[in-house]
Amino acid sequence: MNMTLEQLPGVESVRNLFSLAGKVALVTGGGSGLCRAIAWGLACNGADVAIVDRDGTAAAACAAELSGGTGRRVESFQADVSNEADVAKAVDGVLEAFGRVDVLLNGAGHNIRKPLVEFSQAEFDSLMQVHVRGAFLFCRAVAPGMQARKSGSIINIASIAAFVAIREIVPYSAAKAGLLQLTRAFALEMAPFGVRVNAIAPGFIDTPLTRQHPGEKRRQIEETSPTGRFGCTEELIGPAVFLASDAASFVTGTSVVVDGAWSAQ
Ligand code: NAP
Repeated sequence: MNMTLEQLPGVESVRNLFSLAGKVALVTGGGSGLCRAIAWGLACNGADVAIVDRDGTAAAACAAELSGGTGRRVESFQADVSNEADVAKAVDGVLEAFGRVDVLLNGAGHNIRKPLVEFSQAEFDSLMQVHVRGAFLFCRAVAPGMQARKSGSIINIASIAAFVAIREIVPYSAAKAGLLQLTRAFALEMAPFGVRVNAIAPGFIDTPLTRQHPGEKRRQIEETSPTGRFGCTEELIGPAVFLASDAASFVTGTSVVVDGAWSAQ
């Protein structure tokens, strides 16, 4: 039998489903690229935001810009996400400044593009460290508070490279696949506590990272994209706000693919 309208949520609560008012979001990699756009989107929807990035000066400039543009409190914290001491210091700073973290978005990362046989062990390790260890360290630091409050949303920025084979980014792909499985497995542990853990898997998005591609490579990506173009950073805002908000209250342990049908081919 259908629920009566009285049993369904009221008009105002439905209209506010995507609101992040009163929430605190911690965004790693928020000083640049798609995570900067996501940090902007979270603040526009009412969240106060802590930006964590390797380059403290860029992160501080970004925080000032986002705060000025949204009227929300946005602060920056310098950390290498793969360094345990840095992460502990940054999370302590965020908790001291904001009191808690309701939304954790793990987005800091880099890529190295060349054939597998040309990778050094240090290069391979650096990709595992930033994408897998970095997310692990932030999840471990932030999840206990979420568990205690029985609420929270963790969003890991994976990639379509986690499930589609792409040449010359083998270690990056392995790291993103690791991050995706970290997401699913951690979601099981967190589900009884009302804490959700999801991933966003972007396709090719126009950011400082992908602008490093030579022109020929960029043209090839555009030609093989069903949309004929790279995604824009702002196209990550909607999926991130959705996963961060109560609109996704029963969405956990999964990933949202944002790739303009690239991986559907
Ligand atoms: P971006 O513009 O280069 O932004 C990445 C940010 O993360 C930069 O500010 C970078 O700082 C920071 N960072 C890198 N390593 C770090 C570390 N160890 N500790 C702290 N901060 C660190 O790149 P983006 O394209 O927006 O990428 C953001 C995320 O999306 C990455 O996880 C990437 O793998 C993922 N992604 C991107 C695409 C795409 O097409 N762009 C597709 C799928 C997934 P520095 O500038 O100092 O390096």
